[in-house]
Amino acid sequence: MKSIAVIGSGITGLSSAFLLKQKKCPVEIYEAAGRVGGVIRSVRKEGYLAEFGPNTLLNTSKKIEHLIQMANLAGHVTFAEDVGQTRFLVRGGRVIAMPSTAFGFLTSPLFSWFAKFNLFMEPFRPRWKNKYEETVAHFVRRRFGNEFLTYAIDALVAGIFAGNPERLSVIHGFPKLYSSEQKYGSLIRAQFLGARDRKKRGETSKQEAKVFSFDEGLQVLTDSMAANLDNMLHLNNPVQKITRTPTGWKVGYLDGNIMMEREHSAVLLCASAHTAQYITLDTPEKVSLAPLGQISYAPVASVALGYRRSAVGHPLKGFGMLVPGVERLNILGTLFSSSLFKNRAPEGHVILSSYIGGMRQPELAGLPEDKLYELVHHDLANLLNITEQPTFKIAHYFPRAIPQYDVGYGFYKDHIAKIQERCPGLFIGGNYTRGPALSDNLLSGFDFADRIEKHVKEAGLMDV
Ligand SMILES: Cc1cc2nc3c(=O)[nH]c(=O)nc-3n(C[C@H](O)[C@H](O)[C@H](O)COP(=O)(O)OP(=O)(O)OC[C@H]3O[C@@H](n4cnc5c(N)ncnc54)[C@H](O)[C@@H]3O)c2cc1C
Repeated sequence: MKSIAVIGSGITGLSSAFLLKQKKCPVEIYEAAGRVGGVIRSVRKEGYLAEFGPNTLLNTSKKIEHLIQMANLAGHVTFAEDVGQTRFLVRGGRVIAMPSTAFGFLTSPLFSWFAKFNLFMEPFRPRWKNKYEETVAHFVRRRFGNEFLTYAIDALVAGIFAGNPERLSVIHGFPKLYSSEQKYGSLIRAQFLGARDRKKRGETSKQEAKVFSFDEGLQVLTDSMAANLDNMLHLNNPVQKITRTPTGWKVGYLDGNIMMEREHSAVLLCASAHTAQYITLDTPEKVSLAPLGQISYAPVASVALGYRRSAVGHPLKGFGMLVPGVERLNILGTLFSSSLFKNRAPEGHVILSSYIGGMRQPELAGLPEDKLYELVHHDLANLLNITEQPTFKIAHYFPRAIPQYDVGYGFYKDHIAKIQERCPGLFIGGNYTRGPALSDNLLSGFDFADRIEKHVKEAGLMDV
């Protein structure tokens, strides 16, 4: 009985492997790095808890709760505090709460009367019928007007993709927005009618889903799944080659300087696109992973700064703030981490997690740490009325943080579909296939586990 190879131990690879193991399918996980979790990394230092990568997960499905129970982590979940329901946007150098009700929107100083009128007209605007692929910017301008794009969506896109709405594709980057327009004719109408459909499917929209993490950060989840898979995990073993054999697949990986090989029934490739491009695919079907190397990634540095609470003038009663590009600041946005979750900073202190760089100012992300601290502190001091230097600093640079679902992304999706179709038993996943959100990547683990189990059973490769 041969096992299933999972390549990459980010959230996608780990959740898939964990769920395959629950189905009694033997797995082997190959990880190039010396640790599991991919971009998820939580660091507890000097009483502060900083996240280098993602900070929050969304509970968009009962399946996520089920996985957490299976991993025995229910007692470690920390839901965001109620203050997290308020989110801020920066406009004109001021930190302004985003309205969450129709009345709040009408009275909000965030948008002009013209922008408000434009938003209320949205249900009366026609569907997109043209054939060419739209950018997010074009879509938003067409449905809501330019001001909403400049002050709200530009900042939101920076918060999710660290991306540029003038380049991101609406159909690939925000497929639910696109399909909402196509199905309901209006995004505002879809808010009401879509809720009914989601209820039927047992899903919760990202806007309504509860935000959560774990007592010691998101790494608790990946560490816990890895502990469950302990003897199946091969760290520091980058995969270099995947070869089709008469009975399945052979994985070639480096162990030190030595090339090793192992036979498997099926392979699930969850390495990031920028590294998967270098894996040789040795099959008679003449397909290659090299084109994945053309997917562009936004560089991002995450910078967590701790302050004495008394030095911060702003009440920090919220999730955090997003910054539109038009404000010309250094940061893309900041999470008020210690307001959102308990036990993130020592008594009398706060921790603020900011992101810098992205497609907006890619040159900033790779700056030396001292410069990053200076730039981020400069913005925070002005916006949040901070009167002292930080008491704690930590930063992490991701040269390729988040894949950009730019216009034309369909080429990569088709290419991935073509490889999987021509190579039965080879599955490809990760944040460049189903969107960057952790919840989507986690849920893809359920899908892969089901599809792989079905494949090995039908191919008579395994007696599961
Ligand atoms: C700074 C930042 C902030 C974010 N914030 C949020 C957030 O708050 N909420 C949210 O939902 N999402 C957020 N995201 C997005 C989300 O974290 C990612 O999309 C998701 O974690 C990606 O998981 P993955 O498994 O697809 O890939 P990765 O985490 O990139 O894992 C891929 C793994 O494959 C390994 N690998 C690569 N090549 C090979 C090889 N040849 N052989 C073996 N192993 C290999 C890598 O070492 C890595 O461990 C954020 C991302 C970043 C970078």
